[in-house]
Amino acid sequence: MDKWDAMKTFRERFYIPSETVYMDGNSLGLASVDSEESMIRIFNDWKNLGIGGWLEGTPPWFFLAEELGRLMAPFMGARSDEVIMTGSTTMNLHSLVSTFYHPTIERRKIVADELNFPSDIYALRSQLKLKGMNPEEDLVLIPSRDGRTLDEGDIIATFDETVSLVVLPSVLYRSGQLLDMERITKEAHARGILAGFDCAHSAGALPHKLTEWDVDFAFWCGYKYLNGGPGCPAFLYINRKHFDREPGLAGWFGYEKNRQFDMDLEFNHARSAGGWQMGTPSLLSAAPLRASLRIFGQAGMERLRRKSLALTSLLMELVDTFLTEPSYGFSIGTPREPERRGGHVAVEHDEAWRICSALKKRKIIPDFRPPNVIRLAPTALYNTFTDVVDLAEALRDIIDGGEFKAFTLTKDAVS
Ligand SMILES: *Cc1c(COP(=O)(O)O)cnc(C)c1O
Repeated sequence: MDKWDAMKTFRERFYIPSETVYMDGNSLGLASVDSEESMIRIFNDWKNLGIGGWLEGTPPWFFLAEELGRLMAPFMGARSDEVIMTGSTTMNLHSLVSTFYHPTIERRKIVADELNFPSDIYALRSQLKLKGMNPEEDLVLIPSRDGRTLDEGDIIATFDETVSLVVLPSVLYRSGQLLDMERITKEAHARGILAGFDCAHSAGALPHKLTEWDVDFAFWCGYKYLNGGPGCPAFLYINRKHFDREPGLAGWFGYEKNRQFDMDLEFNHARSAGGWQMGTPSLLSAAPLRASLRIFGQAGMERLRRKSLALTSLLMELVDTFLTEPSYGFSIGTPREPERRGGHVAVEHDEAWRICSALKKRKIIPDFRPPNVIRLAPTALYNTFTDVVDLAEALRDIIDGGEFKAFTLTKDAVS
């Protein structure tokens, strides 16, 4: 399969840590030669041009956030002015909820889910408090039936006339379940509810049709599948029909672009996603992200998704076939259907933490998500089918030899 893989040359452009099988591209994507060159170029522009880089840099810094939005938009099924590079995932959630959540006596609730990434829940609770609402009553957390996945029917059942806004993940960070964003949005709209999605675990992993599905807003980070580098800027999506809404958290970089330097005290936001910027973008961190998005452009999202599904299908098949007997004790927590899963696989085991430690000792990099998930993301740009087989053999050997027992139960600060 590696021999026939039409995308295998992309791997050569990435820095794979030495003798390592890297399965953590869903937490922090790898560096590429392209991103390194891009970073050096912007540093040299700063060195050689000083403030002149804003208009004379290659590319000019002043338009970089919009350019990255344009590069990103096709992978999200968005029009080019509906996406902007800005802020961080969590900051963008704050900014979007500030924009779209205007509670009234009748409609005051926000619907989210109990499996979401904690930062999103913290942000939603604090937004409710800022508006004088009570998170205990006004934040509805959809429960999971199996502790792994959400049932779209259960989600839709919460949509009543008291709900103002629904904010859900596209792909659940632990199990890897992919929600039916189109159906959820349609059902929300039918009841007068706005729908937004956290696409942190789907951006760069699979194609989206945000505009066709009529999603109101979305946000995601650049450092996971998108390989933008640690702490690089994030993105947000605003459906064009909302461009006239006033940004909830305003700042001068959201000003109508060609008049930003008029320094007018009356805020007049750009009628594009760019209107939701606040301050000066993190340009040095944006440089690797720009190069990385160009790689995605060359690879094509449909093609990436096909290979990603082939990699994750192989992984699930190997676990199912060889590692589920009681003596091994592994199981798959991710839905099997391609249209119901993202780019990673949740392999569950009672000893997940110590097995993760043993994998790392063997230079296979997973991540651990409590209580029992070994999260594995063979990514289409730089992983091989051989990586997946090596990983499955390592899981087998770690149990056969009792290797995991040598590791402590104490968790590291970053897992
Ligand atoms: C990774 C991730 C975040 C991270 O937020 P940052 O602000 O980038 O630290 C937030 N939400 C979800 C669902 C994530 O997967």
